[in-house]
Amino acid sequence: MNYELYFVPLQAQTTLIRKTDTPMKYALVTGGSRGLGRAVCLKLAAQGLPVIINYQSNQAAAEAVKAEIEAAGGTAELMPFNVANEEEVDRAFEAWTETHPEDYIAYLVNNAGIRRDGMMFMMPTEDWKAVLSTSLDGFYYVTRRCLPAMLRKKHGGRIVNMTSLSGLKGLPGQTNYSAAKAALIGATKALALEAAARDVTVNAVAPGFIETDMTKDLPVDELKQQIPMGRFGRPEEVAELVSFLLSDAAAYITGEVISINGGLYT
Ligand code: NAP
Repeated sequence: MNYELYFVPLQAQTTLIRKTDTPMKYALVTGGSRGLGRAVCLKLAAQGLPVIINYQSNQAAAEAVKAEIEAAGGTAELMPFNVANEEEVDRAFEAWTETHPEDYIAYLVNNAGIRRDGMMFMMPTEDWKAVLSTSLDGFYYVTRRCLPAMLRKKHGGRIVNMTSLSGLKGLPGQTNYSAAKAALIGATKALALEAAARDVTVNAVAPGFIETDMTKDLPVDELKQQIPMGRFGRPEEVAELVSFLLSDAAAYITGEVISINGGLYT
């Protein structure tokens, strides 16, 4: 019997883990309070994974995701920190390890990200740095804390990095965002090679336009006309893809960037 499978009902999985005395495998989703991260948290929890919801400042939104998971019979905890702040990340991980000495984060979704769009010739340094630092430094600070346990023999792990269409093709007004997301693709491919021998997969998901707070100020009707499917994507559709990449079924996929964009860029 395979005790590592997690696509089993919540109660069954909890029982299996307890019976065999193996460490509890958690999923950490950065930026899990809203948008894509929220949808990923709900999806993973529905599949029986205990979920750690990271967020920066919107506690009410994070609490709401936790409550929704618990109401459906799942397990969730909050882990607030700014992914771009090395000390905050380290402190949060030290505190979590103290309270979960036997457990580890086996599934990591580096999802937290921000936009600060503007033409480059007018872009303030702080907008350049904030975007780079949230997507790229955030990936580095969080992932390196999760890697040792994943790389430990027999543990294994799954990492999914939320990049973007903007990082694949470049979008005007987004030199900072395109740079951050393209760099994340490079890091995904390099880390995938470092970690492959230990059964740790590292992949990236590149959404086009998805209905979230991040895109609500965009000219939606105009943009829809450029999308072959004629609509924005839904967070739940991205969550399905992330969940697949985190599953046992995707064990042989690593170093890949999977687009999810309604045909906008192929
Ligand atoms: P969103 O609706 O704006 O939500 C952003 C989430 O990230 C929130 O949970 C927010 O926490 C968190 N966050 C932001 N900065 C953070 C920080 N420094 N530390 C910790 N958490 C932080 O964004 P979204 O549309 O869901 O986007 C999620 C990811 O997908 C981003 O990486 C984005 O670049 C990428 N993406 C989105 C689209 C799209 O069309 N929506 C397309 C391609 C890629 P608080 O609630 O505390 O603020």
